[in-house]
Amino acid sequence: LPVLAVVGRPNVGKSTLVNRVLGRREAVVQDTPGVTRDRVRYRAEWAGRPFILVDTGGWEHDARGLNARVADQAEIAVSLADAVIFVVDATVGPTATDEKVVQVLRRSGKPVLLVANKVDSGRDEADAATLWSLGLGEPYPVSALHGRGSGDMLDAAMALLPEISAVGGAMPAGGPHRVALVGKPNVGKSSLLNSILGHQRVVVDDVAGTTRDPVDELVEVGGKPWILVDTAGIRRRVHQTQGADFYASLRTQAAIEKAEVAVVIIDASQTITEQDIRVIQEVIDAGRALVVAYNKWDLMDEDRRPYLEREIEQGLVQIPWAPRVNISAKTRWHVDRIGKHLDTALDGWETRVPTGRLNAFLGELSAATPHPVRSGKQPRILFGTQADTRPPRFVLFATGFLEAGYRRFIERRLREEFGFVGTPIEISVRVRE
Ligand code: GDP
Repeated sequence: LPVLAVVGRPNVGKSTLVNRVLGRREAVVQDTPGVTRDRVRYRAEWAGRPFILVDTGGWEHDARGLNARVADQAEIAVSLADAVIFVVDATVGPTATDEKVVQVLRRSGKPVLLVANKVDSGRDEADAATLWSLGLGEPYPVSALHGRGSGDMLDAAMALLPEISAVGGAMPAGGPHRVALVGKPNVGKSSLLNSILGHQRVVVDDVAGTTRDPVDELVEVGGKPWILVDTAGIRRRVHQTQGADFYASLRTQAAIEKAEVAVVIIDASQTITEQDIRVIQEVIDAGRALVVAYNKWDLMDEDRRPYLEREIEQGLVQIPWAPRVNISAKTRWHVDRIGKHLDTALDGWETRVPTGRLNAFLGELSAATPHPVRSGKQPRILFGTQADTRPPRFVLFATGFLEAGYRRFIERRLREEFGFVGTPIEISVRVRE
């Protein structure tokens, strides 16, 4: 889906605008700056066209200067988006921070809609006119709070969006595959990057104004070339604040979108946390192939091992299908093995099962293990087809609703039969009377 991002300084009303667009109270709005939220991407729809709305309003805390963090936020949002809504407070007029954002937006070359918020009445429209000076064309006056002008604004924003997302959408076939190294802070992403690059090239800096465009890196892992996407996001060290977490989460999403396969790095010396699981979930939601790497294996204390095994079993219960590799970024132990697992995961991700084979398999499966009888009825699978690859998506036609347990059983058997390792697979069921 095409991606529309909302950017702007704190308190200009980004979240209120997002709420307006969503038409429901899904985003938490508070008057105090610095509300952090987990969700930043929403599925939205306007005039029958679905799109993804990215809200950057949660990222307001940081130890650095306002200009730097707002510019960073804009930079990330832009790398995630096909078009951008830039929100300015019309009652304040253009500020130096707004000008900073304009520079970032210009450099990106992405289409931008300038929105003058807090234009609550016709009287305030003169305020909006001062925003012409930003050089982004006509400001759209809206009142996110009261809804004034938001329909026209959305019409204009939709006109800027392509039919299909260009961000991570069309991936060049042939050539090296695109890999994202992701994981919560401190699991060893930059150490692994260094170890892959073979020499210390990570620039440790978080000085305001030194932000760079995301950089992809051509590397060799396990004797094959790969493109590591968005390594700039790994290079840039951020402070351990709430704001930085939010920032890291946006970065993670941007990298996953651009990649075909993601390596989720987990610190084997620590207990698996919600945050680790969330990163894995983001990879699955984005429909990318997945490899899990347990890093810092050099710290593995034999006493911890049995606990770790149990943790892995419990923590990763949803993804028994993901290839796992134990590594040490520090000593480079088994780092080369990641390559083999990337290949396996991508194979599964790209596999297409011929319709004949699929239906022979479905026939045998339902004969051996039919769907349980429910209220005197027994739904039967009539026919199935693989509608898509990268990741594999199956559509099954059945005489009735297939319950979740049975769908999971089908998924498990499909994985065994056709070797879908390291890839999410999607099964949808259409009921034919
Ligand atoms: P990032 O935030 O995910 O990029 O994590 P870093 O690469 O900055 O690593 C966080 C900390 O873990 C640093 O102190 C690293 O030296 C350490 N570290 C990373 N990988 C390993 C490893 O394989 N073994 C050990 N012992 N320490 C590691």
